[in-house]
Amino acid sequence: MHELSYATAMLDAILNSIKKEEEKGRKIKKVSEINLEIGELTFINVEQLKFAFDVIAEGTVCKGAKINVEFIKPKCKCLDCGYEGEVKIVDEFEIYCPKCNSMRLRLSGGKEFNIKNVTVEFEDENEENNF
Ligand SMILES: [Zn+2]
Repeated sequence: MHELSYATAMLDAILNSIKKEEEKGRKIKKVSEINLEIGELTFINVEQLKFAFDVIAEGTVCKGAKINVEFIKPKCKCLDCGYEGEVKIVDEFEIYCPKCNSMRLRLSGGKEFNIKNVTVEFEDENEENNF
């Protein structure tokens, strides 16, 4: 499952940043929120991503974290009519120029998978922090 590899990469990256943060001497109690930026051309199913993450995060500080997703739209340049802008996406195999319905497109962006920020709770205080 494609979502599981994204979930694994995400968990590794977050646990790594937590480790770095803890090396500064503060213990993290839990991760409460994770904000992601996902390109629409990754075709990630967010529900499956959340489910996979929750399963693999079992026993870590990430367990139960709320995952928020912001989608990034890809841009295209149509090689037939010269249109530049957003694309019409039906599915992974059907991506069209919204103006002339050509599939001969030069695409840019839309494959992002970024962890924008993470909200954590520290053990020694009640405030929440982003990093
Ligand atoms: Zn076109």
